[in-house]
Amino acid sequence: MRVVVLLGAPGAGKGTQAQLLAGRLGLVHVATGDLFRAAVRSGTALGREAGAYMERGALVPDELTLRILFERLEAPDASAGVLLDGFPRTLAQAEALDAALAERGSRVEVAPLIEVPEKELVTRLSGRWTCRADGHVYHALANPPRLAGVCDVDGSELYQRDDDRPETVRARLASQLGALTEVVDHYARAGVLVRVDGRRPIEAVTADLLTALAPAGRSRSAVG
Ligand code: ADP
Ligand code: AMP
Repeated sequence: MRVVVLLGAPGAGKGTQAQLLAGRLGLVHVATGDLFRAAVRSGTALGREAGAYMERGALVPDELTLRILFERLEAPDASAGVLLDGFPRTLAQAEALDAALAERGSRVEVAPLIEVPEKELVTRLSGRWTCRADGHVYHALANPPRLAGVCDVDGSELYQRDDDRPETVRARLASQLGALTEVVDHYARAGVLVRVDGRRPIEAVTADLLTALAPAGRSRSAVG
């Protein structure tokens, strides 16, 4: 199973890039945030439990996160390969993923890190509009939809996530950035981390990611 892990702080552009890249790479886009939001909407026990953490900008405990992720990886469409977005977010999650992949004779192929300064993350998250049907993302200024309030891709309604309110954004960054550093260090040690400048326009970041994901680009730019 091919596994690419897209790393970055909340708001770095992981979802935006994953939606542009997954199809081109022949991978299925799997975002734990999307899986949790779907579970919250369907009112499952797991959704109720996870929702309480998400509401206050905290990470959902590893046990629940691993359960929802591994269940998704079991689905037939994931067997060819996945582009993971928003997972792993803790060192324990990264280690659990490594162990599960090792059992299948596989490993994380490459882990691009989209780097964006913290101040810019706040601007991005507070201007983010998300599509109800499939999580497509827009930005009020940087990447507006053609028609205000309507998704370009599927015509569904755009909404602002509750956890994109300024006070929750601050809580998310405060509680998640430390763990991200540990995950980044983990993939640097494994020799699969590739840093990408996420401050550039969306298309430029996509081009850099495609280079990072091509085997030749990887050996040129892979750095700890
Ligand atoms: P993540 O999945 O990492 O939380 P998103 O992909 O949802 O981040 O992007 C967060 C916000 O930033 C969205 O409003 C998106 O439109 C916007 N955005 C994404 N990439 C860029 C970029 N390169 N420049 C400016 N804004 C961006
Ligand atoms: P996201 O859509 O990636 O911004 O995720 C939204 C929220 O879901 C996060 O703020 C966390 O509460 C939760 N979440 C998503 N992925 C994970 C994960 N891998 N580990 C723990 N919590 C997560």
